[in-house]
Amino acid sequence: MEKYTGKSVLKGIAVGKIYCYKKKNYTLEKTEVSDKKAEAGRFEEALEAAKEQLTALYEEALETVGEERAMIFEIHRMMLEDEDYLDTVRTAIGEGTNAEYAVNSAKEKYADLFASMDDEYMQARAADIRDISDRLINILAGVGEDTIHTDSPVIVLAEDLTPSETIRMDKSKILAFVTIRGSSNSHTAILARSMNLPSLVNTQMELNDGLNGKIAVVDGFNGEFLIEPQEELLEEMIRRKNKWETDTRELQLLKGKENITSDGRVISLYANIGSVKDVDAALEADAGGIGLFRSEFLYLGRNDYPTEEEQFRSYKAVLEKMNGRKVIIRTLDIGADKKVDYFQLEPEENPALGYRAIRICLDRPEIFITQLRAIYRASFYGTAAIMFPMIVSVDEIRRIKEIVNQVKTDLADEGCPIGDVELGIMVETPAAAVISDELAEEVEFFSIGTNDLTQYTLAVDRQNQKLESTCNTHHPAVLRLIEMTVRNGHEKGIWVGICGELAADTELTGMFLDMGVDELSVSPSSLLRVRKAVRDI
Ligand code: PEP
Ligand code: MG
Repeated sequence: MEKYTGKSVLKGIAVGKIYCYKKKNYTLEKTEVSDKKAEAGRFEEALEAAKEQLTALYEEALETVGEERAMIFEIHRMMLEDEDYLDTVRTAIGEGTNAEYAVNSAKEKYADLFASMDDEYMQARAADIRDISDRLINILAGVGEDTIHTDSPVIVLAEDLTPSETIRMDKSKILAFVTIRGSSNSHTAILARSMNLPSLVNTQMELNDGLNGKIAVVDGFNGEFLIEPQEELLEEMIRRKNKWETDTRELQLLKGKENITSDGRVISLYANIGSVKDVDAALEADAGGIGLFRSEFLYLGRNDYPTEEEQFRSYKAVLEKMNGRKVIIRTLDIGADKKVDYFQLEPEENPALGYRAIRICLDRPEIFITQLRAIYRASFYGTAAIMFPMIVSVDEIRRIKEIVNQVKTDLADEGCPIGDVELGIMVETPAAAVISDELAEEVEFFSIGTNDLTQYTLAVDRQNQKLESTCNTHHPAVLRLIEMTVRNGHEKGIWVGICGELAADTELTGMFLDMGVDELSVSPSSLLRVRKAVRDI
């Protein structure tokens, strides 16, 4: 048996034959062109053809995987209109380079640029640049798109997959994806997740044709890829796979059901989202509301601050889609691992302990006010709540409330209607948990951010992969701080939720209910699993 480990994209198990997916070979060469005008024309034609392909792919994806996932192709089409990218290609052609080579040079330049960024999300965009460029090169060189040729479903093993390759594959013929490179934050990974296919990325193995047809197991629970496992292990994996499939089917039956224990205790189950398009998944998972809208994602992947109008449109869209269900918008949590160039943040020795989140907002109120105005204007269109990240003191909340009151007064003077907006804070620093009795006097709810609370309590950098295995997410210090926060919140009459990853940890669901936690906010894909855990108590 050969065993490889990778990063799991979706918890699940697949058993089947390997299909090595290799892209068609095409040798790229640099040539001098004498007729630059004709070459430029050839490029413009390929550009139009690529856009047409992407429009067709968008329509196809709309039918098969829904609007949210189909957007990838719309984004790719828009990337093909990027002036910097096109200028790089056109300039090279103008200097006498053949179009294929000019596109490839632009691909390398921009893919390297994205890959060198600190932010994981931006790094993953390098794959999109490669995808659109390869599409152009294939059209220019007359190379067709590859698809899977198989009669029965297989485990697709590839060096890497682009979103368009992923979507083009006939889902009925695929059991799982395993890629040698790739990141779990890539669009391909997102698509695999939405197709509900167990998948692993970054397995760092060799792709060779000898693997074709061999029996293998993709274990998305443990991030393992087992090739030709011994009979006993194979049988055990098949048993686990069958159980996983039954469990998944049963979870769907929980849609529309209450989050209630057999002794009648009820808890709210909300979803965490990072963009307007995530709302579809939240609704599909039957979320009672949005417990954490990470608004900083609206600020990532762009060259300048989103305007009040742009933000207003996003918040309004989420509120309208949620149709009266509560939407808790967390104000900007930029800094630490989420870096944005145009904020011009200076490098820091310890960014997680530095200039981030509410600290930036209070220091640069113009940014904060723009966001608050957008949220309050949107609040008219649904049930909005706002929460503030990284709070450590009562003084911060008082300063925030002064700014909030000014924003509300200004909007009233402008005749702009607003809704009733609950104000809360994230309890994600040990300081906030310890003084939660005082903080509870100032706000209407707490949402415990266990990701940061764990990092700061245990002094474990959440980005450090080396510490992942030693970090005890059930550490009594963290659990006691949670318990203390819930108790203090309730004594002062406010509700308390949890929106960090721990909220989806079903080993703790019973304990959270015993503590009296009012709401758990989890990723849409975990929601029904947590509902089941609640109902099983
Ligand atoms: C948290 O810290 O638990 C949290 C929900 O916020 P984020 O993961 O965005 O820092
Ligand atoms: Mg946090």
